[in-house]
Amino acid sequence: MEKENLIRNALQNSDSEIDKLVQAEAERQQYGLELIPSENFSSQAVREAMASPMNDKYAEGYPRKRYYGGNQVIDTVEELAIERAKQLFKCEHVNVQPYSGSPANAAAYFAVLNPGDTIMGMALAHGGHLTHGHKVNFSGKLYKTAQYGLSKETGKIDYDEIEKMAKEHQPKIIVSGATAYPREFDFKRFSEIAESVGAYSMADVAHIAGLIAGGVHQSPFPHTDIVTTTTHKTLRGPRGAMIMCREEDKLKEKYHAKSKWNLAQRIDRAVFPGLQGGPHEHQIAAKAVAFGEALKPEFKDYAAQIVKNAKVMSEILIEKGFDLVTGGTDNHLMLIDLTNKNITGQEAETALDKAGITVNKNAVPYDTRSPFDPSGIRLGTPAITTRGLKESECKYVAELIDKTINNHNNEEKLTEIRQEVKELCSKFLLYEL
Ligand SMILES: *Cc1c(COP(=O)(O)O)cnc(C)c1O
Repeated sequence: MEKENLIRNALQNSDSEIDKLVQAEAERQQYGLELIPSENFSSQAVREAMASPMNDKYAEGYPRKRYYGGNQVIDTVEELAIERAKQLFKCEHVNVQPYSGSPANAAAYFAVLNPGDTIMGMALAHGGHLTHGHKVNFSGKLYKTAQYGLSKETGKIDYDEIEKMAKEHQPKIIVSGATAYPREFDFKRFSEIAESVGAYSMADVAHIAGLIAGGVHQSPFPHTDIVTTTTHKTLRGPRGAMIMCREEDKLKEKYHAKSKWNLAQRIDRAVFPGLQGGPHEHQIAAKAVAFGEALKPEFKDYAAQIVKNAKVMSEILIEKGFDLVTGGTDNHLMLIDLTNKNITGQEAETALDKAGITVNKNAVPYDTRSPFDPSGIRLGTPAITTRGLKESECKYVAELIDKTINNHNNEEKLTEIRQEVKELCSKFLLYEL
């Protein structure tokens, strides 16, 4: 990527305290290696749209049907975001108003479920998201849940097991998608299982939306009823989310026979007025910009490069004796079980942080340690790929990770590695600072 400007003349003048912190965060990003797989670097164009006067407008409602005046321009912005998203994901209906991934999932459930209905989703401990039915989350408090895990032998999704569970629990919705799963999802199979028990199928593609848009992961369409996604992960847009769905409610007779709404209308009504107030139109403008970027041919190269980079990193790490859950990766992320390296997830995260490499500790399937200090770490390539790192640099990054883990108690060595990380980052600058 090109080095970008961080325009903040007014901020510098009016609030030097916050301005200094913005500078410090930009430097941290610039001179460190960001390997958290849910993070990315949005373009200056995306950030400029977010910092625009669109921030100041109230627009409750939907384009051409607002509860406030003055929305002539805003309507066009939101319509453009919707049209571009439809083109990008080849779906029938899109709602671009969800504030973030968790509220998008809340709206999706609110659209089709009643409190007490059953959600089936992947357990958090196996890589699912809190909003897929975890007991501390609204999704586990408001609804009954059935949580599926991964195969103990392979670390992969066991579709036969999910089918068996679906028959037993008779969920009203089956959710696919995860935050820490390094393999491809078979969305068709998920939808067939859902259909066989009369459940809605939902795919939460928050992590992999950019891979789907870039054509390196199969699409949940046309199989899936409802698809939610964040826009700030592999899709590389503003922090935010959207919901996509088919127009028709295939289960209308079974669940909503008396309702006059189709699925698209149910989703829209769940987002507003069901859950949210005024949409964040500056964020929606930035989503439109990001979708425009993702529609360009270069984005396909970007998505393919994310996967290539993850593949070479995983190969080197395996060579160095790391135990990758599922034995590798098909996508943008790797989950590493550190048990054989005699280091915990927390210790590894801390040592890597000292070396300027940002990852997060993560539970591995069937982890026996506590979530506060689990057995694994999760890392991924979306952000470093945006910076321009290719296979050869990713091999080097994997070697730096190995060196850090092997020397995690050696402060001197960690300082040395920090310097190597800085040198690498200096060749791939993000900002004019
Ligand atoms: C990140 C993520 C979310 C939540 O998104 P937020 O914007 O953090 O609320 C939901 N589902 C999955 C699978 C995710 O990875």
